[in-house]
Amino acid sequence: MDNRLLFDQLNSIISKQNRANEELEKIKSAFDFACRLHEGQYRVSEEPYILHPLEVSCILADLQADTDTICASLLHDILEDTNTQPEEISQNFGGDVLTLVNGVTKLSKYSFSSREERQAENFRKMFLAMADDIRIIFVKLADRLHNMRTLNYMRPEKQREIAKETLEIFAPLANRLGMGLIKSELEDLSLRYINPEKYFEIAQLVAQAKSERDQVVQAVIEKIDNNLKNMRIKAVITGRAKSYYSIYSKMRREQKSYQDLYDVTAVRVVVDSEKECYEVLGLIHSAFKPIPGRFKDYIAMPKNNMYRSLHTSVIGPRGKPLEVQIRTQEMHEVSEYGIAAHWKYKESGRSTKADSDADQKFAWLRKLIEFQQDIKDAKEYVDSVKLDLFSDQVFVFTPKGDVIDLPAEATPIDFAYRIHTEVGHRTLGAMVNGKIVTLDTHLNNGDIVEILTGKKEAPRLDWINIVATNQAKSRIRHWFKKNFREEHIAQGKSLLEQEVTRASLEGFMKEGKILEIAKQMNYQTEDDLFAALGYGEISTTKITNRLKVDEIAPQIKISKPSVKKSTKAIEGLEGMLHHISKCCSPVPGEPIIGVVTRSRGVSVHREDCKSLKLTSSERLLQISWNSNSTGKTYVTKIFVEVIDRMGVFRDVLGKISDNKTNITDAKIKRKNKNLATIEIGLEIQDIDQLNKVISSINSISDVINIKRQQSGIMNRSKG
Ligand code: MN
Repeated sequence: MDNRLLFDQLNSIISKQNRANEELEKIKSAFDFACRLHEGQYRVSEEPYILHPLEVSCILADLQADTDTICASLLHDILEDTNTQPEEISQNFGGDVLTLVNGVTKLSKYSFSSREERQAENFRKMFLAMADDIRIIFVKLADRLHNMRTLNYMRPEKQREIAKETLEIFAPLANRLGMGLIKSELEDLSLRYINPEKYFEIAQLVAQAKSERDQVVQAVIEKIDNNLKNMRIKAVITGRAKSYYSIYSKMRREQKSYQDLYDVTAVRVVVDSEKECYEVLGLIHSAFKPIPGRFKDYIAMPKNNMYRSLHTSVIGPRGKPLEVQIRTQEMHEVSEYGIAAHWKYKESGRSTKADSDADQKFAWLRKLIEFQQDIKDAKEYVDSVKLDLFSDQVFVFTPKGDVIDLPAEATPIDFAYRIHTEVGHRTLGAMVNGKIVTLDTHLNNGDIVEILTGKKEAPRLDWINIVATNQAKSRIRHWFKKNFREEHIAQGKSLLEQEVTRASLEGFMKEGKILEIAKQMNYQTEDDLFAALGYGEISTTKITNRLKVDEIAPQIKISKPSVKKSTKAIEGLEGMLHHISKCCSPVPGEPIIGVVTRSRGVSVHREDCKSLKLTSSERLLQISWNSNSTGKTYVTKIFVEVIDRMGVFRDVLGKISDNKTNITDAKIKRKNKNLATIEIGLEIQDIDQLNKVISSINSISDVINIKRQQSGIMNRSKG
């Protein structure tokens, strides 16, 4: 076969693009290089091997990929399949191309098909984490796409395996990167091999409905064409069938046959500007009856893969529901090429700043993924990738091929404790990728980790400084807690002595006092209490709080905490009689202080409560809300100062119920003929909820200010 003829296929794409001559030459020489190396190699289809990298490069060239990416795609199989040394690539095509080829080669070594559904997300994350340059993922996706297009040459079970992997890993990745076209094609091709019967059935039905689709589009055009002309809007209106796979999913999800799915046809309107999108929406809605609840504004609220468009459904020309998508040309390109559309909208020269471009692309991916984290309720992306996987996580394999995710800087010890506590305790050594390593070695993405254990091994205390996971830390601590009791008792004793001296509480270290406190806190002996202090299970504050209470108000009955109460709302008051102060009504999540009273136990105040200024410091206890307390509510009061107009009371209460917050009571007090104060009691779960309610009320223009109650004085002044 004539290689020059083959190259024409790629050349016809890239020569029309804005590429410098030396870039075109570089691509040509990468092609020649690959031809020479793959000479004599054939694919399963018995075609010359070079056709595969060539097709992959054409897919990327169509996406307007940069020159290095195209070169890398031409060379992507040579490290794996030929005897080429990496240096040859960097010498001929530069370090960037080598990095890309290396990245693709590394990814090719793993099979990402998971035995279990729950592993799929881990594989997707690992895949992203392993590609340190977004362009590696582009090459890999293009590689997979071409392999899927030529899958019919494989054995049937291999076909299903690859198709399943594509559906689980590669199509979701393409979707996550917003590459709608590649995602749909990967899904449709996968369906063809996973469920050929359904695939061909749907394909046939869709083809039969084509003329109907064309008529619908024609009818839509006729109905709005005049108006478009009057408004001088240039619009391209097309009809399209949904993808086979999306029809298939919908049939399965809704348990319906093809005939019962009403919205398999959609009309797409492409216009010049964002403003025109909304104008066309208005035209469509006046020409056809909109179906309530189906309008979605992805222009104002883009999807987390940057997809933007207006979606609506109307009763179409034939009395059947019709989905309409309205977008600009740029939005359209982003929806088809996603993150790769970036290449199109890039301005300055490609060759001069390859490095900073790569950085930029990476930054963009990061932003994309950060952005995904913000949108929790876009249901299809709930399983979204987390930003921190790039920097904060590593994914490693067990010898059996399960993926384990660990924080960055994790060591074989973390891995061992993740497998099993006993494996952790008995760790003797570790092998990474078949080589013995030291236990403080940091694991890398894709490492295969094996733990060597000994029967009599025991953890070492210095492991605590080596491990990265809290799980490993606490297991090691726990082991020492069980095994080094004497040391912990000594340490706990000295900690308490220090604290007692610091807070001048010496006088209260009376005979039997410590035992009494230990019992109150459910410890059997003084030593148990000291040991708990020593290994950090409890803090000294908890004990000194009790000492203070005993001194100031010994008559307060201190109940023994029951097992049930062990998840108390307030940290530091376990088993003590206490109440939430009404003067400032603190709610969970805000800083609080305990005040020991003579007769009513400890009262809990907001840290900024004015009444604390009058309280002597020996009565104050350090306490805090327990962060994982259950959905209990607390009543707190707010005062809303408003301009007194009709309906303002109702507006304020409306904002509160918008926030799904209960109102315990509400009254309005007129100050003068213009101003009034609304006093409202709210049932609140935590400070976040309260802040939301307050900012929501603040959005009413007649609200002048909102105060929380500070002290009893403020209430009294109102009479
Ligand atoms: Mn390949």
